[in-house]
Amino acid sequence: MALPMIIVHGGAGKWKDERIPIGLEEVEKATRTGFAVLENGGTALDAAEACTVYMESCGNLNAGLGGRYNVDGVRELDAIIVDGPNLNSGAVMAVKGVQNPTSLARYVMEHTEYTQFAGEGAKRLYDRMITEGYRQETEPGITAQPFTTGTNDTVGCITVDTEGRIAVTSSTGGISKKLPGRVGDSPIFGAGAYADDVNGATATGMGEHIIRVVMCRTAVHYVEQGQDLQSAADSAMKLFEEKTGSEAGLVMANCEGEFAKATNAKAMPTAVIQGTLDSMKIFKR
Ligand code: ASP
Repeated sequence: MALPMIIVHGGAGKWKDERIPIGLEEVEKATRTGFAVLENGGTALDAAEACTVYMESCGNLNAGLGGRYNVDGVRELDAIIVDGPNLNSGAVMAVKGVQNPTSLARYVMEHTEYTQFAGEGAKRLYDRMITEGYRQETEPGITAQPFTTGTNDTVGCITVDTEGRIAVTSSTGGISKKLPGRVGDSPIFGAGAYADDVNGATATGMGEHIIRVVMCRTAVHYVEQGQDLQSAADSAMKLFEEKTGSEAGLVMANCEGEFAKATNAKAMPTAVIQGTLDSMKIFKR
């Protein structure tokens, strides 16, 4: 299968019919953004960050500027980025006043000796990141109107560069009207996102339920047990449904550029490019 590759989803959930074309368009643009980085020789991590930052900045998806508000009317964002070959990750949780938490998550991974930061400490780290010039701020704080339709939608991607290195992200505003401080699966390594040197997965849906089956690690475990990628994705969804009766979705990819996706939700806008731009495929779910 051709490398580089990228698979991107815009969240699984009860999408309103009129929002689905918007979700598909944003996911397509995000996929092109990430693929352009890969085509220009960027690493899987560079592409995953660029793709997810696009989705966080577009205002039409439940992440970054479009992230849902909590019960106090405040956006608290969660994000993770995973560097598969090193089993390394950085995550931020319930961070406020930051519009691209994925860049901050990468800073956690690359510029601290820690893996996860939450709340006020994460915001302080963000200020340090900006001061150090690791990333530049284009707009301070959070200004966009919330995206209020649907229920649970998170964004995420998997990228595989020409060296076969896998990177994965997940980024979310979480569920609507969550209590302050609530953190779902999305920034949790193994639950909301996982990658090693061979396989990667990223999930979307009600975090409290996804955590129960450690969904992404479970899906990769099924591959290690001998299932092909699509069977593994389907098996993880089946287990999730059996144990929780809830709705979710996940996408998977391996270091050879193969991909799989599974969801029991009405929609999970997804786009994939393998090798060349003209291979792009777009799926409603
Ligand atoms: N997984 C996210 C959370 O529970 C929600 C979503 O996927 O939309 O925070």
